[in-house]
Amino acid sequence: MKAASIKDLSGDELREAVEEFGMPAYRAGQVYHWLYAGAVGSFDDMSDLPADLRASLGERYAVDTLEKVRERLSGDGTLKYLLKLADGNTIETVLIPVAGRKTVCLSSQVGCRFGCPFCASGMGGFTRNLGQGELLDQVVAVKREGIAVTHIVFMGIGEPLDNLENVIRAVTVLNDPKGFGIGARRITISTCGLVDGIGRLLKSGVRAELSVSLHAPVDELRDRLVPVNRRYPVKKLLGACRKYYAVTKRVVTFEYALLDGINDSPALARKLASLLDGFDCKVNLIKVGEVPIEGFRPSRREAAHRFRSILRENGVKVTLRRQRGADIEAACGQLRLRTL
Ligand code: SF4
Repeated sequence: MKAASIKDLSGDELREAVEEFGMPAYRAGQVYHWLYAGAVGSFDDMSDLPADLRASLGERYAVDTLEKVRERLSGDGTLKYLLKLADGNTIETVLIPVAGRKTVCLSSQVGCRFGCPFCASGMGGFTRNLGQGELLDQVVAVKREGIAVTHIVFMGIGEPLDNLENVIRAVTVLNDPKGFGIGARRITISTCGLVDGIGRLLKSGVRAELSVSLHAPVDELRDRLVPVNRRYPVKKLLGACRKYYAVTKRVVTFEYALLDGINDSPALARKLASLLDGFDCKVNLIKVGEVPIEGFRPSRREAAHRFRSILRENGVKVTLRRQRGADIEAACGQLRLRTL
C-alpha cells in the first residue's frame, strides 16, 4: 500500500502528526517550510530536522504524489506537463507565462462528470477527485523547475467545485505566506456553474477570484453546451454570481468560448449584454483553436469582433483573447486529448 501524502495534511494536522512522534510543534513549521517554500523531494533533504523525525515521517508519509512523464512547449510559450499519479492515472498541468506573470493551471480531478460536448477533458468520464497533496504537487512540480509561480487558476481537467473540500484546503496552503504565499486575488477558481458549490465556496471564507464558464446566455442553448445548466439554469447561476460579488467584492469573470454558428450571433451578444446589465463583471471571449470534436468550429474573425463590439456598446467589460497553448492541446477543453 502506498504511503499517504504528507501534503494531504493541513498545517494543524501536520503539527499533530509531528507531536505524535514526540517532537515539539515548531518542527512542523520546519517541515511545512521544506515542503512548500523549499519544494524538496524527500524527507532526507530537510536538513535541519532530527534524523529520527525524518525516518518516522518517511515511514508513514510520501513527500511526492506525482511523477513528471512528459512536457511539451507551445509556440506561444505555454508549457504543458503530463504528470502520473501514484495509482497510475495521469493529469495535466499547464504553465502560462504572460506579461511577467507565471500562471499555473491546475487540474482538480481525473476526468470530469459534467460532459460538456465541446470539451475533451470530460470525454473519458469521471475517475476520481484529486487530493490536497496532488493539487499542491502540481505547483511544486513547476516550482522545482526554478519557476517563481505568481498566479494559480483551477481551470485544468475537472470541475473544481465538484472537489471543493480539497480545493479549499489546497487554496489555504497556496495563500498562506508560509506556504506558497500567493495572494487570494491571484488565485482563480473556475466552474461550469455549480450554484450550490458557489454557495459553499462563499461560506468557506476563501476569497479567490471566480470564473464561470457561461458559453451561452439562454437556457435552451446552454442546456446543450453546458448540460449542468439543466440543474442550475442561467438565472439561478447569475443570482449566485451576483451574491458572490456582493459578499466578496470579487469581480466575476464569465468565460465565453466563441463557436461558429452556435453561440456567436449578434442576437446572442445582445441577450448576453442584457443578462449582465447592471452587474459589475467581466466577459472573457475566447477565440478557441481548432476544436477536434465534430460539430464545433471556432468562430470566424468578423463574428468574434462583432460579438465583442455589441457587448462593448452595451457597457459590458469584455476582452477577446486567443486561446493559449492550442498547438499542444493545452487549452481549455483540450487537456487530456493526447493521453486519451
Ligand atoms: S468544460 Fe469543464 S465542466 Fe465541462 S466537461 Fe470540460 S472540464 Fe468538465
